[in-house]
Amino acid sequence: MKYFVGIDIGSTAIKLAVLNEGENICALGQSPTGSRFNQNTEDTLDRLFAENHMDKSLIAYTVTTGYGRKLFKSGDEKINELTSNVEGAIFMAQKDSNIQTIINIGGQDTKIIQLDRHNQMTNFVMNDKCAAGTGRFLDIAARNLEVDVEDLEKLHFQALNRPLTINSTCAVFAESEIISLLASGHNTSEIACGIHYSIAKRIARLASRIQLNDDVLFDGGPALNGGMIDALENELMRKVIVHPHPQFTTAIGASFYALKQYRFEYQSVN
Ligand code: ADP
Repeated sequence: MKYFVGIDIGSTAIKLAVLNEGENICALGQSPTGSRFNQNTEDTLDRLFAENHMDKSLIAYTVTTGYGRKLFKSGDEKINELTSNVEGAIFMAQKDSNIQTIINIGGQDTKIIQLDRHNQMTNFVMNDKCAAGTGRFLDIAARNLEVDVEDLEKLHFQALNRPLTINSTCAVFAESEIISLLASGHNTSEIACGIHYSIAKRIARLASRIQLNDDVLFDGGPALNGGMIDALENELMRKVIVHPHPQFTTAIGASFYALKQYRFEYQSVN
């Protein structure tokens, strides 16, 4: 038994994925990124292996990706998050679909990646300048509405698709706008639904700079939120695919890349 580890050190959460030689996912784990990237990543890795009764000495290859990858001292290779996101999307899709666009909403940025029919990246657009179209905006909104980010989905569907319009184009001003809406008696579900549509509209604008081809995959932590999926599908006027464990796609991609690199290097020396 050998293990291939993908580590995605994101702005919000560290995500780990472990594959075996048979390309089966053996374990997935996450923890908040915090400020001590290196130590928190090592601790998350130790905990994941201990909890799953797996032996760390059987790790054959480790690939690190994500915003904090350069600060992680161990591991065999580092790759950028666009490459690992594409690898993860292809791994999870297997032969069921033909992913040609990936929309990734992370904790601090949003990316739209275009692929050709051979799974090669042909173009991408990114918003990493403003929190308004990212998971950070959902976290700020949840805090103001005094709910957990996991509860935004339930609120969204309680609004029966009657979202309030959130006019602010900046997360800081949007926070004041949410507080004003609450103070003037609007209910939390309509505000939550409005937040989802506000992010979805920003993504639709970003998408207008790139051609969206079917199938469209939506991943990153906010893809766990059915309200976000609903708003995005309405704004893009098309269905999106969400794989299981959407927040782990990039980590899974790094572990798949690790397995392929190991096979390549092993075959080269034998
Ligand atoms: P990063 O890779 O930049 O750390 P992630 O892809 O992990 O970002 O996404 C983090 C965001 O996902 C959080 O800011 C939060 O808004 C959202 N999120 C995380 N977990 C959940 C959940 N269980 N339900 C809904 N949203 C979630």
